[in-house]
Amino acid sequence: MYIKSYGSSSKGNAYYIVTNQAKRIIIDLGLDVLKNKQSPHYEHLLNVDYVFISHEHVDHTRHLKKFLENNLKAKVHIAQESFEKLCSKDKWFWLNKARFFWTPLEKAGAIWTNKDFQVTSIKVEHNSKANFGYFIDFYNGENILYITDCGSINLGQFKNLDFKDLKTIMIESNYDDEREPTAFSIKEETQRSMVGHFSYKQSMKLISFIFNKIKDDAKNYGIKDASIIEKLLSLNVFLIHTSAKDFNSLKNKDIKQNLNFIRIAEKGGEYNANYYRKRSWDKTKEFIKAP
Ligand SMILES: [Zn+2]
Repeated sequence: MYIKSYGSSSKGNAYYIVTNQAKRIIIDLGLDVLKNKQSPHYEHLLNVDYVFISHEHVDHTRHLKKFLENNLKAKVHIAQESFEKLCSKDKWFWLNKARFFWTPLEKAGAIWTNKDFQVTSIKVEHNSKANFGYFIDFYNGENILYITDCGSINLGQFKNLDFKDLKTIMIESNYDDEREPTAFSIKEETQRSMVGHFSYKQSMKLISFIFNKIKDDAKNYGIKDASIIEKLLSLNVFLIHTSAKDFNSLKNKDIKQNLNFIRIAEKGGEYNANYYRKRSWDKTKEFIKAP
């Protein structure tokens, strides 16, 4: 699986993902992925079949309209409440509603299937009309768990998800807990609230919860311990939506202490998620930087 991060911060988020069988999706469109017509991806981007939108905030949707005006085939999955908000700002969205699949927030956990994958929506608490995380499970065995702009999350929702073969995790790590908040900043207070954003520590906690769930789910299938370790070693973990202010401090953190193969997605970063970490918990594979 190939992952390109066009940007991963409050300036804009957009991820382009290509599976090993050349299925192409985009998650969030807060950046203009079609800006560079000379890009080797340009023609393929015009043929992406599916777009997932986490929530309506502009850093996740600013370029959705332009993208759909150029790519005439993609269908978009979004929370109903987020879609309504987009429609209230620009009637173009309502006029083009046939291109959207929406799920109301109260139906979080619903599974949407098509010929390429099945996807489960996950309710994420954030100061938006709605916010969905997604577990996208391709039929060829590849998959992604995507959660961003997460102030808090009800872990009970994961109960019905099968993480036995989970391969790629993209989870927000927005700020460094160790940085003192700026005094009287409403923005920082919101950021750190239950409807704001995940800190580094919170994302680590969620990741370790997911690790344990992978182990439990695999055990329930009677998979042997050695194979379970292989599964964990072959996981790809990306920290996303890191604020520019905290990028360097998070990057300099000794993430090996927590997990040794976490990568922090950055603007223009291209990642090969097929890399298989061999036998050791101590090896870190750094991201491949885009030219
Ligand atoms: Zn947001």
